[in-house]
Amino acid sequence: MEPIRSVLRHKKAAVTFYEAEATHIDPEKKVVKISDSSEIKGQSSEQELAYDKLVIAVGAENATFGIPGVKEHSCFLKEVGDAQRIRKQIMDCIETATFKDQSPEERKRLLHMVVVGGGPTGVEFAGELQDFFEEDIKKWVPEIADDFKVTLIEALPNVLPSFSKQLIDYTESTFKEEKITILTKTAVKNVTDKTVEAEATGPDGKKTKLVMPYGLLVWATGNAVRPVVRDLMSQIPAQKDSRRGLAVNEYLVVQGTNDIWATGDCAVAGYAPTAQVAAQEGAFLARLFNTMAKTEYLEDRIEELSTSLNISRSDAPVVATELEALQKTLRRIKDIKPFHYSHQGSLAYIGSDRAVADVTWFNGNFASGGGLTYLFWRSAYLSMCFSSKFHHCHVP
Ligand code: NAD
Repeated sequence: MEPIRSVLRHKKAAVTFYEAEATHIDPEKKVVKISDSSEIKGQSSEQELAYDKLVIAVGAENATFGIPGVKEHSCFLKEVGDAQRIRKQIMDCIETATFKDQSPEERKRLLHMVVVGGGPTGVEFAGELQDFFEEDIKKWVPEIADDFKVTLIEALPNVLPSFSKQLIDYTESTFKEEKITILTKTAVKNVTDKTVEAEATGPDGKKTKLVMPYGLLVWATGNAVRPVVRDLMSQIPAQKDSRRGLAVNEYLVVQGTNDIWATGDCAVAGYAPTAQVAAQEGAFLARLFNTMAKTEYLEDRIEELSTSLNISRSDAPVVATELEALQKTLRRIKDIKPFHYSHQGSLAYIGSDRAVADVTWFNGNFASGGGLTYLFWRSAYLSMCFSSKFHHCHVP
């Protein structure tokens, strides 16, 4: 998402960048297999890269729980390409719905936008999609106004399970106003090219089968481990019990190795897989590596000075003082504190210029929702987008 070449252009460090997919990591031989996965391929498209130290930050892939039809028929929301595909599909659905002599049922199906998964991804997307409809689509294609519909499906009893009860209620009532249908206690079991099949559990525990025709299906049911990470986990005995990703120690070193670090959603450090955690881990790792480089330099210099000190020389006291100072610095910087995550709170956008926030301030819990929270959300969000190339548009 970030233009890596322009980032590197301003760095003095020698960085070699390959646009490739890491397909296999061999921690014994210390090599990474890389493959040029782009559409245009040259004669060389599979290579091996040797490493001294390795940082893995490949994130996660979309969980589908093996539910039939999901991979083939739904859109995900992780990469920029996913967002472009969603955007194109929304417009295709609208144009096809308004095609000459389209039957009313087919129109309804095409204009039914289904989002599966009521976590922050699904909730934010459903809100943004309804906004896009209210603020843009409705003006361009007013004739579809009555049939355009967004449905959010969640298997648990409520959406945003990680937020407080008050904010869950606020989100649900805002969605009602926005005319987004929320189906909770409804688990999707099967997907075809035109329908979503789900099982709904009623208040009496009775289960009913629902078949919902859709035009666009966005699947947001959380994270799964990427194959390259799973493959590495299977080669490290200490990772035997890891499920959600690479278990790391308090310095983000992958357990069972001493030269591999992992950060972000592919690492399990005991925190939620959020951008906030990943950003702090990245900054920590940069400090750690800088310290390691400085340590190496100091150790070499100390070694050099101590050897020369053995020879009787006139400036021995000066050298001894420098040596002492260097040793002191070394002790100070070698004492690196482990990674500590500082939680700034949870924020989610819920549509129509409203957001919800669970923030810890002054040791108290502060839950807020509404227009002011939206301004807070937007400023927090924009200040975290370090790229000046970032532009906001309503469909992600
Ligand atoms: P999630 O795991 O938080 O939520 C997925 C939801 O899908 C769950 O509530 C689950 O019950 C539901 N689900 C699973 N299978 C289902 C099925 N078959 N039918 C119906 N519902 C089903 O996933 P997410 O929303 O993608 O979030 C992933 C991580 O990213 C989280 O840690 C989240 O906090 C973070 N995130 C944060 C923000 C934010 O802070 N604004 C935004 C996006 C993501």
